[in-house]
Amino acid sequence: MRYDVVVIGAGPGGSVAAKTCAEKGLSVLLVEKRQEIGAPVRCAEGIGKKDLERFVEPKKKFIAAEVVGAKIYAPDGTEITLTEEMAGNEVGYVLERKVFDRYLAKLAANAGADVMVKTSAVGMEKKDGGVKVKLRRMGEEFEVECSIVIGADGVESRVGKWAGIDTTLKLDEIESCVQYLMTGIDFDPEYCHFWFGNKIAPGGYVWLFPKGNSSANVGVGVMPSLAKKPPKDFLDEFVERNYGKGRIVEVVAGAVPVKGEIETAVADNVMLVGDAARHADPITGGGIANAMKAGYYAGVTAAEAIEKGDCSAKTLRKYDERWKNDFGKDLAKKRKIQQKLVKMDDETLNKIMHTLAECRLEEISVRAILKALIKKHPKLLWDLKDFII
Ligand SMILES: Cc1cc2nc3c(=O)[nH]c(=O)nc-3n(C[C@H](O)[C@H](O)[C@H](O)COP(=O)(O)OP(=O)(O)OC[C@H]3O[C@@H](n4cnc5c(N)ncnc54)[C@H](O)[C@@H]3O)c2cc1C
Repeated sequence: MRYDVVVIGAGPGGSVAAKTCAEKGLSVLLVEKRQEIGAPVRCAEGIGKKDLERFVEPKKKFIAAEVVGAKIYAPDGTEITLTEEMAGNEVGYVLERKVFDRYLAKLAANAGADVMVKTSAVGMEKKDGGVKVKLRRMGEEFEVECSIVIGADGVESRVGKWAGIDTTLKLDEIESCVQYLMTGIDFDPEYCHFWFGNKIAPGGYVWLFPKGNSSANVGVGVMPSLAKKPPKDFLDEFVERNYGKGRIVEVVAGAVPVKGEIETAVADNVMLVGDAARHADPITGGGIANAMKAGYYAGVTAAEAIEKGDCSAKTLRKYDERWKNDFGKDLAKKRKIQQKLVKMDDETLNKIMHTLAECRLEEISVRAILKALIKKHPKLLWDLKDFII
Protein backbone atom coordinates (compact mmCIF):
# COMPACT_ATOMS: atom_id res chain seq x y z
CA MET A 1 0.00 0.00 0.00
CA ARG A 2 1.21 3.48 -0.77
CA TYR A 3 -0.28 6.86 0.11
CA ASP A 4 0.89 10.45 -0.15
CA VAL A 5 0.09 10.95 3.54
CA VAL A 6 -0.59 8.67 6.52
CA VAL A 7 -2.32 10.42 9.43
CA ILE A 8 -1.90 8.64 12.77
CA GLY A 9 -4.77 9.26 15.21
CA ALA A 10 -8.38 10.19 14.44
CA GLY A 11 -8.96 12.89 17.07
CA PRO A 12 -9.98 16.39 15.92
CA GLY A 13 -6.40 17.15 14.77
CA GLY A 14 -6.00 14.00 12.70
CA SER A 15 -9.42 14.10 11.08
CA VAL A 16 -9.09 17.74 10.03
CA ALA A 17 -5.60 16.99 8.67
CA ALA A 18 -6.87 13.97 6.68
CA LYS A 19 -9.87 15.92 5.36
CA THR A 20 -7.65 18.82 4.26
CA CYS A 21 -5.17 16.49 2.53
CA ALA A 22 -8.00 14.69 0.71
CA GLU A 23 -9.60 17.98 -0.36
CA LYS A 24 -6.24 19.05 -1.78
CA GLY A 25 -6.23 15.93 -3.95
CA LEU A 26 -3.72 13.84 -1.96
CA SER A 27 -4.15 10.12 -1.32
CA VAL A 28 -4.46 9.81 2.47
CA LEU A 29 -4.91 7.08 5.06
CA LEU A 30 -6.26 7.93 8.53
CA VAL A 31 -5.49 5.25 11.14
CA GLU A 32 -7.02 5.06 14.62
CA LYS A 33 -6.01 2.54 17.26
CA ARG A 34 -9.37 2.49 19.02
CA GLN A 35 -12.24 0.45 17.67
CA GLU A 36 -14.62 3.38 17.92
CA ILE A 37 -13.55 6.88 16.91
CA GLY A 38 -14.33 9.34 19.74
CA ALA A 39 -14.74 6.73 22.50
CA PRO A 40 -13.85 6.60 25.31
CA VAL A 41 -14.02 10.38 25.66
CA ARG A 42 -11.08 12.03 27.42
CA CYS A 43 -12.34 15.60 27.41
CA ALA A 44 -14.64 18.09 29.15
CA GLU A 45 -15.90 18.85 25.61
CA GLY A 46 -15.96 22.66 25.76
CA ILE A 47 -15.13 24.77 22.70
CA GLY A 48 -15.62 28.40 21.69
CA LYS A 49 -18.28 29.02 19.05
CA LYS A 50 -16.01 30.82 16.61
CA ASP A 51 -13.35 28.13 16.93
CA LEU A 52 -15.81 25.38 16.10
CA GLU A 53 -17.50 27.27 13.31
CA ARG A 54 -14.16 27.94 11.62
CA PHE A 55 -14.05 24.25 10.71
CA VAL A 56 -17.55 22.78 10.89
CA GLU A 57 -21.11 23.90 10.79
CA PRO A 58 -22.55 23.30 14.28
CA LYS A 59 -25.06 20.42 14.30
CA LYS A 60 -27.53 19.55 17.06
CA LYS A 61 -26.34 15.94 17.06
CA PHE A 62 -22.90 16.81 18.42
CA ILE A 63 -23.76 19.81 20.62
CA ALA A 64 -24.84 18.78 24.11
CA ALA A 65 -25.23 22.32 25.48
CA GLU A 66 -24.71 25.97 24.67
CA VAL A 67 -23.51 28.38 27.35
CA VAL A 68 -23.36 32.18 27.55
CA GLY A 69 -20.20 32.49 29.64
CA ALA A 70 -18.23 31.25 32.61
CA LYS A 71 -18.54 31.59 36.37
CA ILE A 72 -15.28 31.55 38.26
CA TYR A 73 -15.03 30.87 41.99
CA ALA A 74 -12.15 32.01 44.23
CA PRO A 75 -10.84 29.82 47.05
CA ASP A 76 -13.04 31.81 49.48
CA GLY A 77 -16.10 31.36 47.24
CA THR A 78 -16.09 34.85 45.65
CA GLU A 79 -17.83 34.50 42.29
CA ILE A 80 -17.20 36.38 39.07
CA THR A 81 -19.09 36.02 35.82
CA LEU A 82 -17.35 36.28 32.46
CA THR A 83 -19.03 36.65 29.09
CA GLU A 84 -18.28 34.04 26.45
CA GLU A 85 -15.80 36.35 24.67
CA MET A 86 -13.81 36.88 27.85
CA ALA A 87 -13.96 33.35 29.16
CA GLY A 88 -11.57 31.97 26.56
CA ASN A 89 -11.94 29.48 23.80
CA GLU A 90 -13.27 26.59 25.85
CA VAL A 91 -16.63 28.22 26.46
CA GLY A 92 -19.55 28.46 24.04
CA TYR A 93 -20.54 24.94 23.09
CA VAL A 94 -20.24 21.76 25.10
CA LEU A 95 -19.80 19.01 22.54
CA GLU A 96 -20.78 15.36 22.48
CA ARG A 97 -17.29 14.26 21.43
CA LYS A 98 -18.27 10.67 20.79
CA VAL A 99 -20.46 12.01 18.00
CA PHE A 100 -18.27 14.98 17.05
CA ASP A 101 -15.01 13.06 16.53
CA ARG A 102 -16.83 10.47 14.45
CA TYR A 103 -18.50 13.23 12.41
CA LEU A 104 -15.09 14.80 11.65
CA ALA A 105 -13.67 11.42 10.59
CA LYS A 106 -16.68 10.94 8.30
CA LEU A 107 -16.02 14.35 6.73
CA ALA A 108 -12.45 13.17 6.04
CA ALA A 109 -13.73 9.92 4.53
CA ASN A 110 -16.31 11.76 2.43
CA ALA A 111 -13.52 14.01 1.12
CA GLY A 112 -11.70 10.85 -0.05
CA ALA A 113 -9.53 9.70 2.88
CA ASP A 114 -9.27 5.98 3.63
CA VAL A 115 -10.01 5.28 7.29
CA MET A 116 -8.83 2.27 9.31
CA VAL A 117 -10.00 1.80 12.90
CA LYS A 118 -8.63 -0.69 15.42
CA THR A 119 -5.31 -0.09 13.70
CA SER A 120 -2.26 1.03 15.69
CA ALA A 121 0.89 2.59 14.32
CA VAL A 122 3.68 0.63 16.01
CA GLY A 123 6.75 2.03 14.30
CA MET A 124 8.11 3.86 11.31
CA GLU A 125 11.35 4.08 9.38
CA LYS A 126 12.71 6.10 6.48
CA LYS A 127 12.65 4.50 3.07
CA ASP A 128 13.65 5.87 -0.36
CA GLY A 129 13.02 9.50 0.60
CA GLY A 130 9.69 8.57 2.18
CA VAL A 131 8.47 6.70 5.26
CA LYS A 132 7.44 3.11 5.90
CA VAL A 133 4.80 3.02 8.66
CA LYS A 134 4.28 -0.23 10.55
CA LEU A 135 0.66 -0.85 11.47
CA ARG A 136 -0.99 -3.51 13.62
CA ARG A 137 -4.59 -4.48 13.11
CA MET A 138 -6.25 -7.24 15.13
CA GLY A 139 -2.93 -8.97 15.79
CA GLU A 140 -1.72 -8.70 12.22
CA GLU A 141 1.22 -6.47 11.25
CA PHE A 142 1.59 -4.81 7.88
CA GLU A 143 3.36 -1.81 6.33
CA VAL A 144 2.24 1.25 4.43
CA GLU A 145 4.57 3.55 2.52
CA CYS A 146 4.01 7.27 2.26
CA SER A 147 5.75 10.57 1.61
CA ILE A 148 4.52 12.30 4.77
CA VAL A 149 3.35 11.13 8.20
CA ILE A 150 1.11 13.45 10.19
CA GLY A 151 1.36 12.46 13.87
CA ALA A 152 -1.97 13.33 15.50
CA ASP A 153 -1.63 10.65 18.15
CA GLY A 154 -2.46 12.77 21.18
CA VAL A 155 -0.67 13.51 24.43
CA GLU A 156 1.07 10.11 24.56
CA SER A 157 2.39 10.58 21.01
CA ARG A 158 4.97 8.09 19.84
CA VAL A 159 5.30 9.56 16.36
CA GLY A 160 7.19 12.53 17.82
CA LYS A 161 9.68 10.19 19.53
CA TRP A 162 10.09 8.05 16.41
CA ALA A 163 10.85 11.18 14.37
CA GLY A 164 13.24 12.62 16.97
CA ILE A 165 11.13 15.73 17.66
CA ASP A 166 11.58 16.98 21.22
CA THR A 167 8.16 16.95 22.86
CA THR A 168 9.20 15.62 26.26
CA LEU A 169 6.97 16.65 29.15
CA LYS A 170 8.26 17.36 32.64
CA LEU A 171 6.04 16.95 35.70
CA ASP A 172 5.20 20.67 35.69
CA GLU A 173 4.26 20.57 31.99
CA ILE A 174 1.31 18.22 32.46
CA GLU A 175 -2.14 18.53 33.99
CA SER A 176 -3.31 15.22 35.33
CA CYS A 177 -7.11 15.03 35.04
CA VAL A 178 -10.08 12.99 36.22
CA GLN A 179 -13.65 13.70 35.27
CA TYR A 180 -17.08 12.30 36.10
CA LEU A 181 -20.12 12.61 33.89
CA MET A 182 -22.68 13.31 36.60
CA THR A 183 -26.43 13.35 36.55
CA GLY A 184 -29.03 14.52 39.06
CA ILE A 185 -27.11 17.65 40.09
CA ASP A 186 -28.15 21.31 40.39
CA PHE A 187 -26.17 24.08 38.67
CA ASP A 188 -26.73 27.10 36.46
CA PRO A 189 -26.85 25.47 32.98
CA GLU A 190 -26.18 28.76 31.18
CA TYR A 191 -22.55 28.80 32.32
CA CYS A 192 -19.40 26.71 32.50
CA HIS A 193 -18.11 26.78 36.08
CA PHE A 194 -14.49 26.89 37.30
CA TRP A 195 -13.17 26.64 40.88
CA PHE A 196 -9.62 27.67 41.80
CA GLY A 197 -7.54 27.15 44.92
CA ASN A 198 -4.52 25.26 46.17
CA LYS A 199 -6.63 23.00 48.38
CA ILE A 200 -9.20 22.33 45.62
CA ALA A 201 -6.81 21.74 42.73
CA PRO A 202 -3.09 22.55 43.13
CA GLY A 203 -1.72 23.93 39.86
CA GLY A 204 -5.07 23.50 38.11
CA TYR A 205 -8.80 23.88 38.67
CA VAL A 206 -12.10 22.07 39.03
CA TRP A 207 -14.62 22.47 36.21
CA LEU A 208 -18.29 21.81 35.61
CA PHE A 209 -19.43 21.87 31.97
CA PRO A 210 -23.21 21.48 31.46
CA LYS A 211 -24.44 18.61 29.31
CA GLY A 212 -28.17 19.19 29.34
CA ASN A 213 -30.67 19.07 32.19
CA SER A 214 -29.04 18.22 35.52
CA SER A 215 -26.12 16.48 33.73
CA ALA A 216 -22.58 17.80 33.54
CA ASN A 217 -18.93 16.93 33.12
CA VAL A 218 -17.39 17.58 36.55
CA GLY A 219 -13.63 17.22 36.58
CA VAL A 220 -10.33 18.29 38.03
CA GLY A 221 -6.88 18.92 36.62
CA VAL A 222 -3.87 19.11 38.95
CA MET A 223 -0.19 19.57 38.34
CA PRO A 224 1.63 16.40 39.47
CA SER A 225 4.63 18.45 40.66
CA LEU A 226 2.38 20.30 43.16
CA ALA A 227 -0.35 17.83 44.10
CA LYS A 228 0.36 15.53 47.03
CA LYS A 229 -2.39 13.07 46.14
CA PRO A 230 -3.98 11.74 42.95
CA PRO A 231 -6.49 13.92 41.06
CA LYS A 232 -9.33 11.49 41.85
CA ASP A 233 -9.00 12.28 45.58
CA PHE A 234 -9.38 16.02 44.88
CA LEU A 235 -12.42 15.37 42.68
CA ASP A 236 -14.07 13.03 45.19
CA GLU A 237 -13.68 15.63 47.94
CA PHE A 238 -15.14 18.34 45.71
CA VAL A 239 -18.06 16.18 44.57
CA GLU A 240 -18.81 15.06 48.13
CA ARG A 241 -18.92 18.70 49.31
CA ASN A 242 -20.94 20.09 46.42
CA TYR A 243 -22.80 17.38 44.51
CA GLY A 244 -23.05 14.54 46.99
CA LYS A 245 -26.52 13.57 45.80
CA GLY A 246 -25.53 13.25 42.14
CA ARG A 247 -24.84 9.99 40.32
CA ILE A 248 -21.66 9.23 38.39
CA VAL A 249 -22.41 7.59 35.04
CA GLU A 250 -18.99 7.80 33.36
CA VAL A 251 -15.37 8.23 34.52
CA VAL A 252 -12.61 9.75 32.42
CA ALA A 253 -8.91 10.03 33.22
CA GLY A 254 -6.25 11.64 31.07
CA ALA A 255 -3.45 14.13 30.81
CA VAL A 256 -3.20 17.49 29.09
CA PRO A 257 0.14 18.92 27.92
CA VAL A 258 0.65 22.46 29.23
CA LYS A 259 4.19 22.90 27.96
CA GLY A 260 3.50 25.92 25.78
CA GLU A 261 5.09 26.51 22.38
CA ILE A 262 7.59 23.83 21.31
CA GLU A 263 10.51 24.80 19.09
CA THR A 264 9.44 22.71 16.13
CA ALA A 265 6.72 20.20 15.29
CA VAL A 266 8.51 19.08 12.14
CA ALA A 267 11.16 16.57 11.00
CA ASP A 268 11.96 15.17 7.55
CA ASN A 269 8.66 13.73 6.19
CA VAL A 270 6.86 14.25 9.54
CA MET A 271 4.57 16.86 11.09
CA LEU A 272 2.95 16.70 14.54
CA VAL A 273 -0.44 18.27 15.27
CA GLY A 274 -2.61 18.92 18.34
CA ASP A 275 -1.70 17.34 21.68
CA ALA A 276 1.14 15.41 19.99
CA ALA A 277 2.72 18.83 19.29
CA ARG A 278 1.73 20.13 22.78
CA HIS A 279 -0.73 22.56 21.20
CA ALA A 280 -3.15 22.66 24.18
CA ASP A 281 -3.68 25.97 26.02
CA PRO A 282 -1.37 26.02 29.08
CA ILE A 283 -3.90 27.87 31.25
CA THR A 284 -7.20 26.23 30.37
CA GLY A 285 -5.93 22.90 29.06
CA GLY A 286 -8.26 23.28 26.06
CA GLY A 287 -6.84 21.68 22.93
CA ILE A 288 -9.65 20.84 20.49
CA ALA A 289 -9.55 24.18 18.65
CA ASN A 290 -5.76 24.31 18.23
CA ALA A 291 -5.69 20.64 17.17
CA MET A 292 -8.13 21.42 14.34
CA LYS A 293 -6.20 24.54 13.29
CA ALA A 294 -2.92 22.61 13.29
CA GLY A 295 -4.53 19.74 11.36
CA TYR A 296 -5.64 22.18 8.68
CA TYR A 297 -2.20 23.82 8.43
CA ALA A 298 -0.48 20.42 8.26
CA GLY A 299 -2.82 19.35 5.43
CA VAL A 300 -2.17 22.52 3.43
CA THR A 301 1.60 22.19 3.95
CA ALA A 302 1.57 18.50 2.98
CA ALA A 303 -0.15 19.35 -0.32
CA GLU A 304 2.44 22.03 -1.12
CA ALA A 305 5.38 19.75 -0.23
CA ILE A 306 4.07 16.89 -2.35
CA GLU A 307 3.40 19.20 -5.28
CA LYS A 308 7.00 20.46 -4.93
CA GLY A 309 8.35 16.90 -4.59
CA ASP A 310 10.26 17.87 -1.45
CA CYS A 311 9.06 16.63 1.95
CA SER A 312 12.21 17.55 3.86
CA ALA A 313 12.03 19.28 7.24
CA LYS A 314 13.17 22.47 5.49
CA THR A 315 10.05 22.53 3.30
CA LEU A 316 7.72 21.36 6.09
CA ARG A 317 8.91 24.26 8.31
CA LYS A 318 6.21 26.25 6.54
CA TYR A 319 3.84 24.30 8.81
CA ASP A 320 5.74 25.52 11.90
CA GLU A 321 5.45 29.05 10.57
CA ARG A 322 1.69 28.68 10.09
CA TRP A 323 0.76 27.29 13.51
CA LYS A 324 3.21 29.55 15.30
CA ASN A 325 1.80 32.65 13.57
CA ASP A 326 -1.73 31.61 14.43
CA PHE A 327 -1.46 30.47 18.06
CA GLY A 328 2.21 29.74 18.94
CA LYS A 329 2.86 33.12 20.55
CA ASP A 330 -0.34 32.76 22.55
CA LEU A 331 0.85 29.37 23.86
CA ALA A 332 4.21 30.84 24.90
CA LYS A 333 2.61 33.80 26.67
CA LYS A 334 0.02 31.67 28.44
CA ARG A 335 2.69 29.26 29.63
CA LYS A 336 4.48 32.20 31.30
CA ILE A 337 1.24 33.38 32.92
CA GLN A 338 0.40 29.85 34.04
CA GLN A 339 3.81 29.50 35.70
CA LYS A 340 3.02 32.61 37.78
CA LEU A 341 -0.54 31.53 38.52
CA VAL A 342 0.39 28.13 39.91
CA LYS A 343 2.72 29.78 42.42
CA MET A 344 0.04 32.07 43.87
CA ASP A 345 -1.27 31.22 47.32
CA ASP A 346 -4.99 31.24 48.06
CA GLU A 347 -4.85 34.62 49.75
CA THR A 348 -3.41 36.23 46.61
CA LEU A 349 -5.96 34.45 44.42
CA ASN A 350 -8.75 35.74 46.68
CA LYS A 351 -7.41 39.32 46.47
CA ILE A 352 -7.32 39.15 42.68
CA MET A 353 -10.82 37.76 42.49
CA HIS A 354 -12.18 40.42 44.86
CA THR A 355 -10.85 43.13 42.56
CA LEU A 356 -12.18 41.36 39.48
CA ALA A 357 -15.58 41.03 41.17
CA GLU A 358 -15.68 44.84 41.44
CA CYS A 359 -15.05 45.34 37.69
CA ARG A 360 -17.88 45.37 35.18
CA LEU A 361 -16.35 42.57 33.20
CA GLU A 362 -18.70 42.48 30.22
CA GLU A 363 -17.69 45.97 29.24
CA ILE A 364 -13.96 46.18 29.75
CA SER A 365 -11.09 44.58 27.94
CA VAL A 366 -8.91 42.01 29.66
CA ARG A 367 -5.98 44.45 29.47
CA ALA A 368 -7.98 47.20 31.20
CA ILE A 369 -9.04 44.83 33.95
CA LEU A 370 -5.48 43.73 34.54
CA LYS A 371 -4.29 47.32 34.71
CA ALA A 372 -6.97 48.08 37.29
CA LEU A 373 -5.92 45.01 39.20
CA ILE A 374 -2.29 46.03 39.31
CA LYS A 375 -3.19 49.57 40.35
CA LYS A 376 -5.17 48.24 43.26
CA HIS A 377 -2.55 45.66 44.29
CA PRO A 378 0.82 47.18 43.39
CA LYS A 379 2.62 44.47 45.35
CA LEU A 380 1.31 41.97 42.83
CA LEU A 381 2.72 43.97 39.93
CA TRP A 382 5.82 41.87 39.52
CA ASP A 383 3.92 38.60 39.54
CA LEU A 384 1.36 39.87 37.10
CA LYS A 385 3.45 41.88 34.67
CA ASP A 386 3.29 39.09 32.10
CA PHE A 387 -0.47 39.47 31.94
CA ILE A 388 -0.26 42.85 30.30
CA ILE A 389 2.67 42.38 27.95
C1 LIG B 1 -10.01 15.39 31.21
C2 LIG B 1 -9.77 16.26 30.01
C3 LIG B 1 -10.61 17.32 29.75
C4 LIG B 1 -10.40 18.14 28.62
N1 LIG B 1 -11.30 19.13 28.35
C5 LIG B 1 -11.15 19.88 27.24
C6 LIG B 1 -12.12 20.87 26.88
O1 LIG B 1 -13.12 21.06 27.55
N2 LIG B 1 -11.91 21.58 25.75
C7 LIG B 1 -10.83 21.39 24.95
O2 LIG B 1 -10.69 22.09 23.93
N3 LIG B 1 -9.92 20.46 25.25
C8 LIG B 1 -10.06 19.68 26.36
N4 LIG B 1 -9.14 18.71 26.65
C9 LIG B 1 -8.01 18.51 25.74
C10 LIG B 1 -8.49 17.84 24.45
O3 LIG B 1 -9.17 16.65 24.75
C11 LIG B 1 -7.31 17.57 23.54
O4 LIG B 1 -6.50 18.74 23.48
C12 LIG B 1 -7.76 17.22 22.12
O5 LIG B 1 -8.52 16.04 22.11
C13 LIG B 1 -6.52 17.06 21.24
O6 LIG B 1 -6.90 16.56 19.99
P1 LIG B 1 -5.88 15.67 19.15
O7 LIG B 1 -6.56 15.38 17.86
O8 LIG B 1 -4.56 16.31 19.14
O9 LIG B 1 -5.67 14.35 20.00
P2 LIG B 1 -6.73 13.24 20.61
O10 LIG B 1 -8.08 13.83 20.59
O11 LIG B 1 -6.11 12.84 21.86
O12 LIG B 1 -6.64 12.13 19.51
C14 LIG B 1 -5.53 11.31 19.37
C15 LIG B 1 -5.99 10.02 18.73
O13 LIG B 1 -4.86 9.24 18.34
C16 LIG B 1 -5.12 7.88 18.60
N5 LIG B 1 -3.83 7.20 18.69
C17 LIG B 1 -2.88 7.35 19.64
N6 LIG B 1 -1.80 6.58 19.36
C18 LIG B 1 -2.08 5.94 18.21
C19 LIG B 1 -1.36 4.98 17.42
N7 LIG B 1 -0.14 4.56 17.78
N8 LIG B 1 -1.94 4.49 16.30
C20 LIG B 1 -3.19 4.91 15.93
N9 LIG B 1 -3.93 5.80 16.65
C21 LIG B 1 -3.37 6.32 17.77
C22 LIG B 1 -5.89 7.93 19.92
O14 LIG B 1 -6.62 6.74 20.14
C23 LIG B 1 -6.80 9.14 19.70
O15 LIG B 1 -8.02 8.82 19.11
C24 LIG B 1 -9.31 17.88 27.76
C25 LIG B 1 -8.44 16.81 28.03
C26 LIG B 1 -8.67 16.01 29.14
C27 LIG B 1 -7.74 14.86 29.40
